[in-house]
Amino acid sequence: MTRAPGRKAQDENMGKFRLKCVECGGLKERCALTCEKCDSLLRAEYYQKRLTLKELSGIWRFHEWLPVDGYVDSCAGPITYKSREFARELGLKNLYISFSGYWPEKGAFVQTCAFKEYEALVSLQRARECGVKTLIVCSSGNTGRGFAYVAEKAKVHVLVVVPEKNVDRIWLPETIESPYVHLLAVRGADYFEAVTLANKIEKEGFFQEGGAKNVARRDALGTVMLDAAIKIGEMPKHYFQPISGGAGAIGVWEMAKRLLADGRFGKHLPKLHLAQNIPFVPIYKAWIEKRNYIKEEDAKKEYVREMYANVISNRNPPYSIRGGTWDALTETRGEMYAIEGNEAIDAKNIFEKLEGIDIVPAAAVGVASLISAVEKEKIDKKDVTLLNVTGGGMERLKKERETFKLKPEILKKDASNASIREVIDRI
Ligand SMILES: *Cc1c(COP(=O)(O)O)cnc(C)c1O
Ligand SMILES: [Zn+2]
Repeated sequence: MTRAPGRKAQDENMGKFRLKCVECGGLKERCALTCEKCDSLLRAEYYQKRLTLKELSGIWRFHEWLPVDGYVDSCAGPITYKSREFARELGLKNLYISFSGYWPEKGAFVQTCAFKEYEALVSLQRARECGVKTLIVCSSGNTGRGFAYVAEKAKVHVLVVVPEKNVDRIWLPETIESPYVHLLAVRGADYFEAVTLANKIEKEGFFQEGGAKNVARRDALGTVMLDAAIKIGEMPKHYFQPISGGAGAIGVWEMAKRLLADGRFGKHLPKLHLAQNIPFVPIYKAWIEKRNYIKEEDAKKEYVREMYANVISNRNPPYSIRGGTWDALTETRGEMYAIEGNEAIDAKNIFEKLEGIDIVPAAAVGVASLISAVEKEKIDKKDVTLLNVTGGGMERLKKERETFKLKPEILKKDASNASIREVIDRI
């Protein structure tokens, strides 16, 4: 991992936050992604301890607790509402839904239809402030779409690297003829081979965005908890989310800790209930065996092919790293769920029928975990519960609107360094 160039360490005490290593407490310069000494995440420590809202739209209302100075114009953000029909079906009295996607009547305008768009907004703003010229994003779906869409607004170049077979997933909700968006399709590659090729791309000013190590990504996703706490008036007792590696869940946990310190939103951290999709359940397996590390044999790529929600399949999750998913589950006395594809499909159908909006497969895994928790009486019917519907409204958006494909550059998965260079030089 390379850190972005930019401000010097002396700046650490300026601005609205400082970056600290979760393990050694060392202060880092504001563009850092890692601690050179520790296997640990960095965390943003905001000077403002009381949550104050800005008069901005979408996630930028929470600007005070996002690790950037400026912002990218956007009205994308999570919306929280109290469920009636689905809650009644489950017998829950206080079920709230956080929805990230396209649902105009509810005021939800995430046009790439997943919460990855928040990560894109904050990460690209941070990249710009840190002097990054081009951010490389490897993705077979939601992340690539989110970053491609935001690139033009943020005026930061984004190179999305995707297996050629998934190139259709990288569409844009508007025609933007943008010099900032670049798509590279890797022929004959699966996701992991595309990552391998992306790792070979070395050029001045090109940076890998850092995934869960990037505080911009985690705090962006953590806005889900902020929006919910404000809407409900307190933090929920339970929080349900489908996870890949858990960047979103870590972000939510970190925001909950800030809300706890604020003092106005409750005295307990929400319990994390996190779900993976069978057969790819490495974090589930590790957690139920009380292991703080992932076994490689549980994260086989053959498993990814057999998944229903194959976007939630991080093979190198931020689990053992200090401040990561293990710590989040431990501190909140969390639970892991392993969900079958057909359970997720049933959950999707029930949810869509009762709540009136389509949801993406990954989100359906989260819905199924809530159903399972209710059946196994892991939560009380009266408990304030938050279900993070991480993506939705895609079928609806595609019905109502035209979407636009990007034209990719193409490289073979075993392309020579010279041919990679040649394509990259055109970008
Ligand atoms: C990425 C993604 C997730 C998983 O998020 P984590 O980063 O693992 O917390 C869940 N749902 C959707 C729709 C996603 O795109
Ligand atoms: Zn450290």
